[in-house]
Amino acid sequence: MKNKFAERTHFVKPSETREILKITARPEVISFAGGLPAPELFPVEAVKDVCNKVLNEEGAASLQYSTTEGDIALREMILQRMKGIGISAAIGNVLITSGSQQAIDLTGKLFINAEDIIICESPTYLAAINVFESYNATFVEVAMDDDGMVMEELEKKLQAYPDAKFIYTIPDFQNPTGRTLKLERRKKMVELANQYDVLIVEDNPYGAIRFAGETIPSVKHFDTDNRVIYISSFSKIFAPGLRLGWICADETFIEKYVSFKQTADLHTDSFAQRMTAKYLKHYDMEKHLNRIKAVYKERCTAMLSCIEQFFPKNIKYSTPEGGLFIWVELPESVDSEKLLVECLESNVAFVSGASFFPNSRKKNTLRLNYSNMPVDRINEGMKRIGEVLNRELKR
Ligand code: PMP
Repeated sequence: MKNKFAERTHFVKPSETREILKITARPEVISFAGGLPAPELFPVEAVKDVCNKVLNEEGAASLQYSTTEGDIALREMILQRMKGIGISAAIGNVLITSGSQQAIDLTGKLFINAEDIIICESPTYLAAINVFESYNATFVEVAMDDDGMVMEELEKKLQAYPDAKFIYTIPDFQNPTGRTLKLERRKKMVELANQYDVLIVEDNPYGAIRFAGETIPSVKHFDTDNRVIYISSFSKIFAPGLRLGWICADETFIEKYVSFKQTADLHTDSFAQRMTAKYLKHYDMEKHLNRIKAVYKERCTAMLSCIEQFFPKNIKYSTPEGGLFIWVELPESVDSEKLLVECLESNVAFVSGASFFPNSRKKNTLRLNYSNMPVDRINEGMKRIGEVLNRELKR
């Protein structure tokens, strides 16, 4: 049989993290590779309760087809939550998606023509790279420092690529670096987007998990021209298995998103939406978030002190104020993919950093996830990585 696949399939690579996750699923492996929330924090009893409430109170209607835009009660609660981070919007600005991953995919579908330029942080979220690549986008990476994307560098890229379609940014506790875009840079990013007439896609699934420092308004808060598309998710604050995310954007954008979402899946799981709306109504989400933050803070602090204790001194690492990840930059001579192979022999895993760079593939970097391991396993796993690393650097 001749190759029947469409041309666009040539641009899609199998996800590298998924491959690693297969190996790290073995129970003897201490894995800092995935980006999984701590399952012991999922509110199982509360979910049982709201599941019953939905069935008792709403009956068969809760199992019926529903609207593409999403459950009104849930969208209203999302509006309230977004107010807290400085986003004022109306119900017509919000579309519920099947996870924020679908929001990213629909964004690619709506805005990317082949070879369009997408400006992103260097490094950035791997699965967003994969999505935009599937629409045959071209990436332009912008350097980051500890305070997120560097605005002088962004401006240079906008000058060099005036037809860029959008800036893709993860401003809070970025995946993979854990870094946060500082306040003045958020304002500046919107100013530059206005000046150069590009859109901003703000992917913000981690903002609510701040365990240190002051809350910063979202990039969307500074939007004066309806050009920021804000994307967020219940995955890290409630349960990723329910697959609930949302987009908040200009109403004309939402109308287009709705048409394209209809072709993808008609609507997001309406039962999950009703359960989540009930959870937000009957339970204290802030209390739940405080539990998550306390646990992640403890795990993050433990991992950072392990880096100090077990890793060589000539490395750099991020100090996150929230989220799930720490980013490590090793001396340039170290290839973290090779390091990973050796670490797997010691039954410990991380994700090597190269795949988070769409073009520059800096091999001396790695991402560590702390949300999914208790402190004793963090201590043991980090000690093992430290041993491999010290051995490697002595060679
Ligand atoms: N954006 C970023 C930056 C992420 O890290 C993730 C998940 N790890 C997602 C989007 C997708 O999450 P979900 O589809 O579960 O909302």
